[in-house]
Amino acid sequence: MSQKKLGEILVEEKIITPDQLSDAVKQQAQLAQPLGETLVRLKYVTESVLLEVLSRRLNLDFLDLAEGDYQLIDKNLAHVLPMDVCKKYHIIPVFQLIDGQSRVLTLAMLDPLNEKAIAEVEKLTKCQVSPVLTTRSALEGGLRKMFDMKVEVPPKAVQVEESHVVKMVNKILTTGVSLGASDIHIEPHAKEVHVRMRVDGVLQLISTIALPYLPPVVSRLKIMGSEQSSFMKIEEKRLPQDGSFSRIIGGHTVDSRMSTLPTIYGEKVVLRLFDKDKATQIGRISDLKMPPRTEKELKRCVRQPSGIVVVTGPTGSGKTSTLNAVVNEINDVEINIVTVEDPVEYHAPEYVNQSSLMPQAGYTYARALRAIMRQDPDVILIGEVRDLETAEIAVQAALTGHQVYTTLHTEDAAGAVVRLIDIGVEPFLVGSTLVAAINQRLLRKICSNCMKDYLPGKEEMLNIGIDVRVVDEVLSDPKRFTIRKSQGCNACHQTGYRGRQGAFELLTVTPTVRDLILRRQNSDVITAKAREEDSVNLIFEEGLRLVLTGVTSLAEMQRLPRGDYKMKSVDQIFIDAEVKSEVN
Ligand SMILES: [Zn+2]
Repeated sequence: MSQKKLGEILVEEKIITPDQLSDAVKQQAQLAQPLGETLVRLKYVTESVLLEVLSRRLNLDFLDLAEGDYQLIDKNLAHVLPMDVCKKYHIIPVFQLIDGQSRVLTLAMLDPLNEKAIAEVEKLTKCQVSPVLTTRSALEGGLRKMFDMKVEVPPKAVQVEESHVVKMVNKILTTGVSLGASDIHIEPHAKEVHVRMRVDGVLQLISTIALPYLPPVVSRLKIMGSEQSSFMKIEEKRLPQDGSFSRIIGGHTVDSRMSTLPTIYGEKVVLRLFDKDKATQIGRISDLKMPPRTEKELKRCVRQPSGIVVVTGPTGSGKTSTLNAVVNEINDVEINIVTVEDPVEYHAPEYVNQSSLMPQAGYTYARALRAIMRQDPDVILIGEVRDLETAEIAVQAALTGHQVYTTLHTEDAAGAVVRLIDIGVEPFLVGSTLVAAINQRLLRKICSNCMKDYLPGKEEMLNIGIDVRVVDEVLSDPKRFTIRKSQGCNACHQTGYRGRQGAFELLTVTPTVRDLILRRQNSDVITAKAREEDSVNLIFEEGLRLVLTGVTSLAEMQRLPRGDYKMKSVDQIFIDAEVKSEVN
């Protein structure tokens, strides 16, 4: 049909004769070439005349893709339209625009009247096609460039280095570092790729990128991820992979652990970032900004010559930072501190000997600890206690005069006791070695730039789980407190929060607590009794104190375990948080 139209136009314009047309139609069938090109080959018309007529009669633009117009080509469209379709119909996708609800694809065509080609492209790309004219030489040149430029598998390092994909990846990484993100998620969805970053413990959508960018971006990251121990296969997209790299990003030395996961829309990549420069800023216990009482107690515990101190909480609750602060606190030329971590995240200052697990090489916690015990240690930091063998070595170390620090995943501080017994440690050993257990969560701090004072409603406070007596106490004289909320501004990326503050629950093992441990009491009983004698503070009450002093918002309290107990009065909570004179 389209050939007829093109031919008719040319006859009408008196550029060719009807005889020449029928000759060309015959030849064209044999050569399997577009009619226009056949006419040019038969020298019935020149290419430039043909283009001029078509452009005028069809009101179509002419793109000279061999020359400057080549820059218009969006190379990512190579992924939406396969090369064989382009070659079959003598077409090349140029760029795509979003026009209201519909997407319009500008398609350079040798024969813009080829309805079959347009229909197929519309079906393949789900775009409305807007044809433009081009010449064969320009089309061939354009196609060659477009498909050569495609940063598909397996890209040569040099080629990728020059590509704008590198810039895109660098931009993502520098943004992550400048936001202080702990994780970067690059996740394909049906229509686009989301880049989300975990900042202050919460994911934020930072940008979206076009789907065709996913393969080259993932390839680029896999090349980076192959720099250290593991090798990531670019062509393997159906199995999860792990990698790691170390880079100076935005002036910071950043270590990254990377993992891929095949999803239904392509490979999702998560980068876990460790900003080493920021890590060195982790100071000492006082930098954790614990309430005075808790800080004093913890400092007393770390001065004990031997015993176990456990930090508990879920992943991402800041346990590692707390342990690092403790290590910094006690670090000294006179003692040998050895750590075994999975893996080492922050590099500790001198005199601290850090060791990273390598389970695949058989270097497990148990094996590491047996070796460490022969290394004349004073202080041992164990990343996490997961099994009886590790727990037993920790207990033995504590019994033989060593300080041991470790972490456990439990809901509350007293849960550490129960967990150690559950793992298989004898209660009398737990009772005689455990010095203290800390439970912690990280709460987001209200953005100081957009915060304002406010008075929460009674319902709002009750819904958080605050006892009605305590709510009434707060509302009876709210001026005593500094309760804030925030709107969101540019400084906090519209989240209303900047930075995080730990909420800490500290249980010290007193004779009373030791007795409860020996009698295998559960964590509720231990907590209740310890509370009576003031040897534990509760994390939920500490969270309320942080709200009433304007550090965090009421909503953030939802991150804290509530527990099943009657709250103390606000006055008492504040008194307990302060240092009692006799504790000095
Ligand atoms: Zn703000």
